[in-house]
Amino acid sequence: MVVQEQLTKEYAQKLDQQNELKMYRDEFYIQPGVIYFDGNSLGLLSKRAESTLLQLVDSWKKYGIDGWTNGDHPWFYLSEKLGKGNAPLIGAEPEETIVTGSTTINLHQLVATFYKPEGKKTKILADELNFPTDIYALKSQLQLHGYAPEEHLVQVKSRDGNTLQEEDIIEAMTDDIALIVLPSVLYRSGQLLDMKRLTAEAHNRGILIGFDLCHSVGSIPHSLSDWDVDFAFWCTYKHLNGGPGSVGGLYVNKRHFGTCPGLAGWFSSKKDKQFDMEHTLKAAPDAGAYQMGTPHVLSLAPLLGSLDLFNEVGIEKIRKQSLQLTNYLMTLIDAELSEYEFIVANPREDAARGGHIYLEHKEAARICKALKENNVIPDFRTPNGIRLAPVALYNTFEEVWETVQILRKIMKEEQYKKFENKRDVVA
Ligand SMILES: *Cc1c(COP(=O)(O)O)cnc(C)c1O
Repeated sequence: MVVQEQLTKEYAQKLDQQNELKMYRDEFYIQPGVIYFDGNSLGLLSKRAESTLLQLVDSWKKYGIDGWTNGDHPWFYLSEKLGKGNAPLIGAEPEETIVTGSTTINLHQLVATFYKPEGKKTKILADELNFPTDIYALKSQLQLHGYAPEEHLVQVKSRDGNTLQEEDIIEAMTDDIALIVLPSVLYRSGQLLDMKRLTAEAHNRGILIGFDLCHSVGSIPHSLSDWDVDFAFWCTYKHLNGGPGSVGGLYVNKRHFGTCPGLAGWFSSKKDKQFDMEHTLKAAPDAGAYQMGTPHVLSLAPLLGSLDLFNEVGIEKIRKQSLQLTNYLMTLIDAELSEYEFIVANPREDAARGGHIYLEHKEAARICKALKENNVIPDFRTPNGIRLAPVALYNTFEEVWETVQILRKIMKEEQYKKFENKRDVVA
C-alpha cells in the first residue's frame, strides 16, 4: 500500500537524510543538474579512483622501467593486489581471483581452460538472453574444438522474453552437457539467478559451471567459494566504477588450481620464475595462472581507489541501499505512471533482482532521448527497454523522485514525440 506521503519530495528528502551512505556521494564527480542512472553501464569517476590513476601516471614519470617493482603500487604485482581487493566482493579467497583481461577475454580463457569435451559430454549450456559477446565467445570456442555451434551450444529459452526459469535451466542440464555459462544478473531484465542452487544442480550431474558477473559485481554480495562455483568473470567499468575499458576480473575455484591455462602467456607464470625466460611455463599455483600478457597498468590504476571505497563501505550495505532505491523507484512508477503503459519487466522480489530497474514501453527509444534532454541519463536496450540504475554510492532518493516526475511530464506532454523511435550508435 502506497501512502500519499511517500509520493512527496519531502519524503524522498527524508530518506536521503536517513541514508547512512550519504557522505559517499561527495566522493564522486557528478555533473550539476544531471541525474545519472547509468552506473550499471559505465560507473562514474570517484576522487579516489582519479587519485590512484594519477599516482600510477606519476610512478611512470618518476621510475620509468623501475615502476614494475618500485613505488607504492609496483606494477608487477598490481593484478594480484587488486585480486585481493576484489575477493570480498565475490566471496572468494584472495588467491582465487585476479584482475586481468576483460569479460570477453576472460571468458575465452576460462572456456579454453575448463571446456574439456569427453565421450558423450560435448555440449555447452547457456541461455538465449545473455549478452551477445558471451554467446559469440562460446560459439567460437566450440568451433575451435571442431564442433558445430548449432548443435553444441544449447541455449535455454525464456518463457516471457525477459527472464529465465531456474527449473528450465536445470532441466537442460542433460548428460551431454560438459560446461555451463550463465549470467548472474541478466543485463536487460536485471533478473538475479540463484547461483548457489544452479551450481549444486550442475555438480550433481558432473557438469562444470561458471557465471558472468558483469551486472552483479559491486552491486550484490556473492559467496562464490561457499557456493562452490567453478569459475566466474566480469568487467569493472559498470558498478565498480573502474573507468572506460578498465581491466576485468576472473575467479577460479581453488579446487581447480593447477589446471593448465587454456590460453597461456608469460604472465601465467609463477611470479618468481617469470623472468627466467624459459620456454616451459611454470604456471602460477593460483588464479594468477589465467593471466596472459603484460597488464594494462593505467587501466588497472583507478580500481585501486575504487575497490578501496567498496571495501570501506562493504557490499552488504551497498546492496541494502540499492534495494531501497530500486524499491522506491518501483513504488513511484506504479503510483505515478500507471496511465502511460509502462511495464516493470524486472522481477519484483528482492532476491530475484539486481541493481537496476527494467521498464518496457513501445516508445522506449524516444522516451530515453527525451529523458536525456531533461538531464536524466538512462540506458536504452533494444527493442523496447529502459534501464534505470539508481546506484547506492552516489544516487539519491530525491533523484529517483525527480526522475519519475520528469517521466510523467514527458508522457503527459508527449515530449518524446519530437524524437525518432530509434537507437543511436551506442545504446
Ligand atoms: C558489459 C558486459 C560484457 C562486456 O564485455 P567486454 O569484454 O567488457 O566488452 C559482457 N557480458 C555481459 C553480460 C555484460 O553485461
